Amino acid sequence: MHEERLSPFAGETMTQLTVGFARPRTAVPDLTAGNRPATPALVDQHGRVAQDLRVSLTDRCNLRCEYCMPADGLDCLPITEALSDAEVVRLVTIAVERLGIREVRFTGGEPLLRRGLEDIVAATTALRTVNGARPVTAMTTNALGLEGRAAGLAAAGLDRINVSLDSLDRQTFATLTHRDRLPDVLAGLAAADAAQLAPVKINAVLMRGVNDAEAPELLAFALGRGYGLRFIEQMPLGPPDAWDRGAMVTAQEILASLSTRFTLTTADPAERGSAPARHWVVEPGPDLPGGTVGVISAVTQPFCAACDRTRLTADGHVRSCLFSRTETDLRSQLRAGAGDDEIAAMWRTAMWGKEAGHDINDPAFMQPRRLMSAIGG
Ligand code: SAM
Ligand code: SF4
Repeated sequence: MHEERLSPFAGETMTQLTVGFARPRTAVPDLTAGNRPATPALVDQHGRVAQDLRVSLTDRCNLRCEYCMPADGLDCLPITEALSDAEVVRLVTIAVERLGIREVRFTGGEPLLRRGLEDIVAATTALRTVNGARPVTAMTTNALGLEGRAAGLAAAGLDRINVSLDSLDRQTFATLTHRDRLPDVLAGLAAADAAQLAPVKINAVLMRGVNDAEAPELLAFALGRGYGLRFIEQMPLGPPDAWDRGAMVTAQEILASLSTRFTLTTADPAERGSAPARHWVVEPGPDLPGGTVGVISAVTQPFCAACDRTRLTADGHVRSCLFSRTETDLRSQLRAGAGDDEIAAMWRTAMWGKEAGHDINDPAFMQPRRLMSAIGG
């Protein structure tokens, strides 16, 4: 059963949308298959509505984080297979103007490697959602090169930024990422803060025996600078030999480690909404202000039932979930001359088939073919 609050279309309930659906101009997939309500929104069979679009701008990266990429890299998409800037903007426009997307997050690979990033951000912020609002724009980045681009990105209209930082120790950082680039990341963080891409948020993944002892230090660093911090449980989306269910650092262990130095209390769960992180309030200490810390327990406590995401890969394929083993190729349709109605209908069909949840914890779990860097995290 869909609730009224789920509809992103102003003043319309799901029932009203059934009545108000405009017939597409071109031949499109059967949108009534499996009793799909005739709504423009990206609904699925489990009562969810996708309003948050993750766009991978490239599958290339200048780091080699152990949990994400093999040390010797991956075969990158040939340039002709990647979406052009104009194609990215066209698909984002369809998502925002026709499909109810309210937030667009640019990711990768490393999105700062995309030359046209600022133009893509500017084109996105110029769009208006179905409710007439400006879409929220965000980026997840490793921050290499951000020092020189943060001000330009803010000027282009970027609202929020998440910087991945797993260690404050230069040697550990270099071991984990296979690149000695910690000073560049710290400079990028400071530049993002100065450009008021606020609140700057840090994403951290802990690996046992590598950086798992650093959780309290990362939190002290974030609190001291007014940055947000979220720990993400390592998911089986990197090199197959980099993930072991038994060895993974769990949310519970992360909280236990933080509690050795900080006093944490559970934040109001109502504030979580569809956000994947559970938050804890951190009490101020003698030399540090208080704040909050998030933990995304994607493996030990999946949040699939509240997921509101849809993903677009750098080669123009829709994925309804990070763990999907099927994709919908919009790029081929786009290059074959499909109209916006047809593309929108294909996207709706792809999301209608979204799985109820991932099956990481099933013994029969099979890792998807694409790794995290190629999907867009
Ligand atoms: N290169 C950018 C970065 O690192 O922020 C954007 C792409 S990266 C794939 C996006 C996020 O996914 C990062 O925060 C990274 O830590 C996270 N990530 C990558 N592989 C992961 C894995 N196997 N499990 C959990 N998080 C992962
Ligand atoms: Fe690159 Fe981001 Fe993957 Fe690290 S997590 S290898 S920075 S894509």
